[in-house]
Amino acid sequence: HAKRNGKNFYKTYEPNMTLEIFKRLETEREMMNAINEEQFEVYYQPQVNINTNEVVGLEALIRWNHPTKGLINPDDFIPIAEELRLIIPLGEFVFHRSCQQVQTLIDENLFNGYLSINVSGVQIERGNFVEFVKDSLGKTLFEPTKIELEITESVIMNDTKSWIDVLNNLKSIGCKVAIDDFGKGYSSLTHLSNLPIDKIKIDKAFIDDISETQNSRLITEIVMFLAKKMDLTPFAEGVESEVQRDILMSLGCEFVQGYFFSKPKSFNDIKNWLKSVRDTQCLEN
Ligand code: C2E
Ligand code: MG
Ligand code: MG
Ligand code: MG
Repeated sequence: HAKRNGKNFYKTYEPNMTLEIFKRLETEREMMNAINEEQFEVYYQPQVNINTNEVVGLEALIRWNHPTKGLINPDDFIPIAEELRLIIPLGEFVFHRSCQQVQTLIDENLFNGYLSINVSGVQIERGNFVEFVKDSLGKTLFEPTKIELEITESVIMNDTKSWIDVLNNLKSIGCKVAIDDFGKGYSSLTHLSNLPIDKIKIDKAFIDDISETQNSRLITEIVMFLAKKMDLTPFAEGVESEVQRDILMSLGCEFVQGYFFSKPKSFNDIKNWLKSVRDTQCLEN
């Protein structure tokens, strides 16, 4: 019941652990209930070509409208959902709902880019992910070539290689694949060159202080160089300021996303945002 903490110290976790377990059970029960009661909602954040100011993509980001706690961000429940494998029904919900909703934006000529969807390693390892994707795309009539699946570096570096087949199958039906949060973990370069991927999303941490530290700028430059040599599209996330945008532009990073352009928005709000972009021909918050 004691956990090793640091070098020579042992920390007793007993009282806290009971509370942890209790909280977890409560979260599990609440989350199952939330799925049934449709408390989850998909938000959308635009991805932009900074040279042309075109909206090239929309990333689907899940939110939980909790009846008493309000809007909960994914970082607070995705890890638990993964542990409890509830990420499977949740991930399926996000996939299907976002295809339905973005298809209506395409039909109304408000959007003509791709839809980016985050996929958990748990979903990929489960076995029937490709079948689910095909089925959902068939039902929503969403064009497979307009789907981009984002998987994090940690999934890529996982020892079980079964996901390579999954990615290859997804690519064979036309979907694109991006590595999310790149640089946060540790990817081996040899490994990277053999992967069935199309895009590298440089982690927000590097963009955060790209204007202050030479280090972050250098790393961004290196990743950009690497991506281009490997024929992958470099992409920057977490762009919050004009300065950051301009630096990225000068480094030749064409595609970005961040609060500077728009925060993630509900379906109705993104629809209105896309309308105003169309009407004024400019990107605004
Ligand atoms: P992510 O996929 O790396 O998504 C980008 C996150 O950065 C989003 O947080 C977005 O709101 C935030 N972000 C974007 N631009 C800026 C910016 O300029 N400044 C700041 N401060 N933040 C910015 P969000 O929506 O809270 O999602 C967090 C993470 O949760 C996502 O990171 C993703 O890993 C995970 N996630 C979200 N939706 C899903 C989902 O449907 N399935 C799975 N498996 N994971 C999801
Ligand atoms: Mg993502
Ligand atoms: Mg990311
Ligand atoms: Mg992330």
